[in-house]
Amino acid sequence: MEKSLDQIASLCKRRGFIFPSSEIYGGLNGFWDYGPMGSELKRNIRDAWWHFMVQWREDVVGLDATIIMNPRIWEASGHVGGFADPMVDCKDCKKRHRADQLCEEQGMKLVQDGKNWKLPEGCKCTACGSANLTEPRAFNLMFKTFVGPVEDDSAVAYLRPETAQAIFAQFLNIVPTSRKAVPFGVAQSGKSFRNEINPRNYTFRSREFEQMELEFFIRPDEAVELICGHVATLADKPDLDGDPQEDWGWEVWHRYWVEQRLKWYRLAGLPQGDLHLYWQTKEELAHYARACVDIEYAFPFGVQELEGIAARSDFDLTQHQKHSGKSMEVMDDRLRLAVAEKSEEEKVAFKARVVADWTTRGKDAAAAEAFVDGLFAGRYIPHVIEPSAGTDRLALALLCNAYDEEKLVDAKGKEDVRTVLRFSPAIAPVKVAVLPLVKNKPELKAKAREVYKKLQRRWKCFWDETGAIGRRYRRQDEIGTPFCVTVDFGTLGEEDPAQKDTVTLRYRDSMEQVRIPLAELEAKIAAAIEL
Ligand code: ATP
Repeated sequence: MEKSLDQIASLCKRRGFIFPSSEIYGGLNGFWDYGPMGSELKRNIRDAWWHFMVQWREDVVGLDATIIMNPRIWEASGHVGGFADPMVDCKDCKKRHRADQLCEEQGMKLVQDGKNWKLPEGCKCTACGSANLTEPRAFNLMFKTFVGPVEDDSAVAYLRPETAQAIFAQFLNIVPTSRKAVPFGVAQSGKSFRNEINPRNYTFRSREFEQMELEFFIRPDEAVELICGHVATLADKPDLDGDPQEDWGWEVWHRYWVEQRLKWYRLAGLPQGDLHLYWQTKEELAHYARACVDIEYAFPFGVQELEGIAARSDFDLTQHQKHSGKSMEVMDDRLRLAVAEKSEEEKVAFKARVVADWTTRGKDAAAAEAFVDGLFAGRYIPHVIEPSAGTDRLALALLCNAYDEEKLVDAKGKEDVRTVLRFSPAIAPVKVAVLPLVKNKPELKAKAREVYKKLQRRWKCFWDETGAIGRRYRRQDEIGTPFCVTVDFGTLGEEDPAQKDTVTLRYRDSMEQVRIPLAELEAKIAAAIEL
């Protein structure tokens, strides 16, 4: 079925998933609110991510840092100097564009000229067709604010444009308190802010959004080599489904996280076939990155990024070491013991090899020597693999994937269309709706309330007593509730004593209805909801 973003956005508004922010005042471009259903959906996404990335693992811990931090963090990370998109204005219709997107929309590519950008020949304003455009200029995406009562330069601070930097900035507190040793990770989810030039595609590109990020710290390959005698690469065909191994180098770790993240998207309910991997080319990679892959989803408006997974070397911690003056090195006992067993000749040969390797990669020989001396003392700055995902983008992908209009024909041959959100039960905002068949029979309603109250302690449930039962089922289909439980006369045992304390369980996807004992209800639902 062809799905349009308009249909999905309209359902989201109608059913309380997503509203324009501050709508009564005309909204605010690039800002969205999540309503009763949307807030549950987002919470379930966040929780599922946290379970998978933190709680189910021994080697990842969490962080919940502030949105506004010391602005020096953003100088060290490079955001103050370089977190900018190219912007152009149409001099005729005054429309503002992000230059790279403007070019892409016309099948062209923005020209990079050193640190500057140039529009390619023939590029026009997509709003009015004029070629009278300004030269592209850099626009820093960070939102600025002031801390304290005085609005001068010394009080400038930024709303974080990503959650990740706080992990690096707190690295020295996390290592001793978590009692974790490299390889280990720190995860954080929360709000980020980017003053996007052109927010678009509904919530896909917003100015306020949420991210779910992991920084997974690993040993430099040279340390792995000293410990294991070799470094496993993808050519060794490592088992990426099993437990991580000590001999893995950065390349294997990077691919391991790509596979982990794909597995998680499948668990969250996105079909493998709708996910694409885009490997950045050498030219596209940041100078410090060794590899970066985007996990993309086929949205109705095109295949677009959900998450980026980058092998960022030791760039971030090194930058913070330089700017803060605090050593970001860790002491690695395994490394220290391994080095103690090496002979002097082995160490000399190792050093010579590393220096040669670094210099052929254009790095400084003295820096290579200092690095190896650090390794011989058991010290290094960890490298990092960063899977960085957007919560809102995933919510939108899940909504797009779940949306279905099913053609039905009833017993009398009458055609009908059922709108249904086929969320995976773990992600669905409401897990169970409890429906008393009639509302004017007190014993029946009391029994249904009893069922509702019990289930509600465990899951988000919905109570609905108004309207015909078929209409009530359809309302639940539209918000993606996987199960409806109907309490009827049978439950009271009035018509057939054998039916006493049984209910009708109705499945959203198949619309199948089965009669089951109340005593089995909770276990049946629980099994289906497990991530
Ligand atoms: P894009 O190229 O789409 O601008 P990016 O590569 O700059 O994204 P990252 O800096 O890698 O994005 O951020 C990691 C993730 O955060 C993205 O994959 C995306 O899911 C999410 N994200 C980034 N910017 C936005 C935004 N403006 N609105 C919603 N989500 C965003």
